[in-house]
This record gives sequence, structure tokens and C-alpha cells, in this order.
Amino acid sequence: MKRLILIASIMLGGLTISQAYRQTETTHIEKQQEQEWQRGQTITLRPGQSTDELAALFAITPIDEATEKRMREGGSYKDECPIPLADLRYLHLVHYDYNGRIVCGEMVCHKIIAQKLIDVFTELFLAHYPIASIRLIDDFGANDEVSMSHNNSSCFCYRAVTGGKTLSRHARGLAVDINPLHNPYVKINAQGGILKVEPNTPEAKAYAKRTPRKAHMIDHSDACYKAFTQQGFFWGGAWRTIKDYQHFEWKR
Ligand SMILES: [Zn+2]
Repeated sequence: MKRLILIASIMLGGLTISQAYRQTETTHIEKQQEQEWQRGQTITLRPGQSTDELAALFAITPIDEATEKRMREGGSYKDECPIPLADLRYLHLVHYDYNGRIVCGEMVCHKIIAQKLIDVFTELFLAHYPIASIRLIDDFGANDEVSMSHNNSSCFCYRAVTGGKTLSRHARGLAVDINPLHNPYVKINAQGGILKVEPNTPEAKAYAKRTPRKAHMIDHSDACYKAFTQQGFFWGGAWRTIKDYQHFEWKR
């Protein structure tokens, strides 16, 4: 893994991140509150200070009680899900958004790809790669269409594949969707005609055709494509009759 080399201090609401983390280490309840509070928050870097705080923002943690509650109430985790919560992980991470701000993100994934995703998102952060939003799909009612329409990037959700009944790789926490509004799921016919676009919005439809290239489109030259495929993920944009440009999955 590429080590973080930024010299930075991270300020969040007047506290450095390390202070915030130290506070939340004191009791389990405070940790839960900190997770609730952190996601979606923007942070700023200040040169000339400690580096350790930044590395601490990319962390793998078990699914704690507060996260389990969010996942059950939000709907991403259902009783019939064959993957035990013990096999899932909650990731803390930071990313650049479309406006160049640094945002606290989060993701639930299967434990076998947790470190790979930390490596991917660390690489993308260091490359200043813009990702609009990375929050649990439960913040969008575990509704993939709603999450995609909000251009939210996510991983775990216990659901069927788009347009089908078989379980998605997302149901095992083994697939990640990135910037879905601008990298939609596109079903095409043998002649290359577009049959279906998800999310079903005018903005996503404007990104169904991939040439000429527009900002935030994932293609073979894209840093996101490279970061995921170098870790061994397969890209949905390479499929033939379905082009799932947002989708990277682990198949091993
Ligand atoms: Zn996907």
C-alpha cells in the first residue's frame, strides 16, 4: 500500500481529528455518536503538522451496534441476509468531492476486500480524485435508485441484481459503485441502441453515451479504473450487453 506522506493537520469543528478520535475512544456511546456526526462533514488540511491523523481517517472497524441499527432500519441488512454482520466491515475514509473539498466518507463491505478498498480510496484521495458522496445506502432508504440519483457511491446492500432476481455482488459486500449518476448502468441491444439507463434520470441518461468524454466518466484511462483493477477488481464497464460503468466487483 502506498503510505500517506502528506504533512497535515486535520481540523474538524475546532477539534483536530486525533482529538475527536481520542474523545470517542473513551466510551462506546461516544464512538457511536462520532460516527453519526462525521459522515458527510467537510474537513480542511493545514500544512506543517502531524501526519498520523490523516492515516487514522482510513480505518477498518467491525460493524458496531449503532451501525447495525442504521443498516437494519435503513434496510441494507435484512434478517435473511446470508452474510453475518461479523463478516462485514465499516470503513472510515476521506475523499475529495466534486468541488475539491475533503469530505468524511464511509462504506460497509465484506471483510475480504476491506484492506483493498482502503488502499483504493487512499490512492484516490492522494490523487485528488473527485467522488461526489460516499455514504451508507441506508441514508437513502437502501434504495439503489435513490442513492444513485444522489450520485452516492456505496458497496454493501442486500439486494438482487438490477433488473433481475439473483443476488447482486453488492449483497455480499463485494462490489462498489462509484459516482453512479455520471457512470450509469446502461443496457444496450445488439445494434448498440440504449434500452435502459439506471438511475432513470435525465442527467444519468446524458452520460449513457460515453463519447465525447465528459468529466467524472470512468473509462480505461481513469484513475479510479486503474486503482480498482490494480487491486484485482473487475469493471462493469467492460461487460458487453450491460455496461455498468459505476461498478467494480471482486470475483475471487
Ligand atoms: Zn454495482
